Order: sequence, then structure tokens, then C-alpha cells
Amino acid sequence: MEKKDIKSLTLTELKEEMTALGEKPFRAVQLYEWMHQKQARGFEEMTNISAAMKAKCGESYLYTALRIVTVQESAIDGTKKYLFALSDGNMVESVWMRYKHGNSVCISSQVGCRMGCRFCASTLDGLVRNLSASEMLDQIYAITRETGERVSNVVVMGSGEPLDNYENLLRFITLLTDENGLHISQRNVTVSTCGIVPMMRKLAQEKLQITLALSLHAATDEKRRELMPIANQYTLEELMACCAYYFEQTGRRITFEYSLVRDVNDTRRDAETLAALIRGLNCHVNLIPVNPVKERAYVQSERQAVEAFAALLAKKGINATVRREMGRDIDGACGQLRRRFLSEAEEG
Ligand code: SAH
Repeated sequence: MEKKDIKSLTLTELKEEMTALGEKPFRAVQLYEWMHQKQARGFEEMTNISAAMKAKCGESYLYTALRIVTVQESAIDGTKKYLFALSDGNMVESVWMRYKHGNSVCISSQVGCRMGCRFCASTLDGLVRNLSASEMLDQIYAITRETGERVSNVVVMGSGEPLDNYENLLRFITLLTDENGLHISQRNVTVSTCGIVPMMRKLAQEKLQITLALSLHAATDEKRRELMPIANQYTLEELMACCAYYFEQTGRRITFEYSLVRDVNDTRRDAETLAALIRGLNCHVNLIPVNPVKERAYVQSERQAVEAFAALLAKKGINATVRREMGRDIDGACGQLRRRFLSEAEEG
């Protein structure tokens, strides 16, 4: 039988496990603290747990751990990019950013991705597998240890489509925001999706206080279909209705991500169409100059075009910011580091 992943269990589940093993429930509290507050890398680090108990846990449970493969630090802004190896040898990347309001970690939710967005490096080889809740937490725990600093914000915007890994994502959010764990406020958690409408509706019904970011990238169905295959499944009309529903259910303002690609979606006309599309929605627009990916032909918009785009939205009363590009010098874009590493390994 496959061993249960102990770090993905809630405290309540862990108490039930301990009872089943013939242990007292307070053991669960101790184990949980070691895993989620002290962020122990294995049972062996748990000094107040008896050797016999550690051995029993080792036999009964899987304890996930990440190995740091590389860390790159940006000389420009101190952003750090981590490449981690999972227990099965697969690799994921995470990014650590220092902002005035605290430290933010961007985590991956899958190894690879099957959404196929044309400008994205994570999806080039398709989906390898989902990450478990513990593997998502491990990225944050490993970075906290390595930097020695507390993480206050978490964004699920690395490789993978989080709503394509829904159950594990929710479990991850539950554990991450639990008062017995790292206790990050739900308001400091952002989940980014390419727009899987039924899953967004399901998420709305959970009534969490997290921020939902929607990767829009185009304001007409035709253009969006060119950039994102998911647009063949759901129209912008359905997507906008779904965003309004999300706000209605949660009271949380939606963030729209819009990556600007030169001559593809960055003209004045595009900005006007976007403004008309989202008018009346309680939202915020994040403009991101597209990060050129070696395998793709897309080129960043000119600085002037980015500024004109933002100015037009502002004039229409739409809240928009141009995202600062952090870590440009260190393969900051989704999936780039893992790909580079994999291809260098292949070239040997
Ligand atoms: N699958 C989720 C989250 C991961 S991608 C989603 O689609 O939202 C995080 C964000 O980075 C998305 O908005 C995605 O469209 C964007 N992105 C991916 N590759 C990019 C690139 N090369 N340049 C700019 N943004 C990119």
C-alpha cells in the first residue's frame, strides 16, 4: 500500500491517524508543529519525539522533502529563483521576491502544464504530474529556511494550472493559512488561472478571501484563441460572467493579468476593447511586458506602447498597474529555469 503523505494531512486528520496508531492525539499536535511551524525536513529533526515514535512514523508515512538544485540571485533587485528537485527527481521552480510590504513567494502547482498557452515555457513539454499539497508547502518552507526570513505573501503563479489540480490546491491553502501552521492570511494568497470557468465557479463557492487572478491577455475571443487554447472552451462572455459571480460570492476584486506582446495585443484599439470588456467589473489590471521565451517568437511591447496602454485604461477609470519585472537577469519567466536545466542536462 502506498504510504500516506503526512505533511498533506490537516491537524484533524492527523489526530485520527494517531488514534488509529494507538497514540495520544497530542502527538499529532507535536508532529504538526514540527512539520508546519518549525518546518522540519524529516522525522529525524523532531527532538521531542521518541525514537520509537519516529521509527513508527517513518514506516507508516511518506515525508516529502525538496532538494535545492540551484539558487540564482538577481543582481538588479535581489529576487531569487530556486530550482528544486522533488523526491521522484522531477523538478519545479519557485521565485522569492522582496517587496516593501514583505516577502513574496511564487510557487509552482504542477510539474509542467497541459494548458498550452503559446507564450509560456512551462507548457512546452506538457503536464508531467500534479504537485501534492505538501510539495507546494515545501517550496515555501525551503525558501524560508534558505533566506532566514518570513514569507508574508504567496502567489500560485509558477508553473502549472492550479485549477487543474483543484483538490491539492485547496488542501494547500487550508494548511498554509491554518493558525497551527505558517498562518498566512488568506488575503495574502493569490491564485492565478488561465480561466477554467467551472473550476472558477467552484472556487467562488468556497468563499475564500484569497485573490483570484485571471490570465486574460486578449480582449476578443479571436485573439485570445490565438494565444491560449483554453479560450476555445470558454468564451470571454462566459468568463466575464464568471468573474462577476466570483466577486458576488466572495467580495474579492478580481485581478486581470495582461501580458503585452508587441503588435499582437498592445495597440490602442486593444486597450479600448479591453476597457469596454471589463467595464463595470470590480477589478484591477496587471500589465506585464511579455517575457520572451527562446522557443517562441513573441516580442515585448515597446515601453511607450506599455505606457500608452496603461494610460488609456486609467483614462477609462480602470485600475491598472505595470508590473515591475523582477529578476529579469535570472530566467524570471515561468518554466524557463527548469527548461534550461533540462536541456543542458540533455546536452550533457
Ligand atoms: N496557469 C496559471 C498560472 C501560471 S502562469 C495561469 O495561467 O494564470 C502565471 C502568469 O504568467 C499567467 O498570467 C501567464 O499567462 C503568465 N505568463 C506565462 N508565460 C509568460 C511569459 N513568457 N511572459 C509573460 N507572462 C507569462
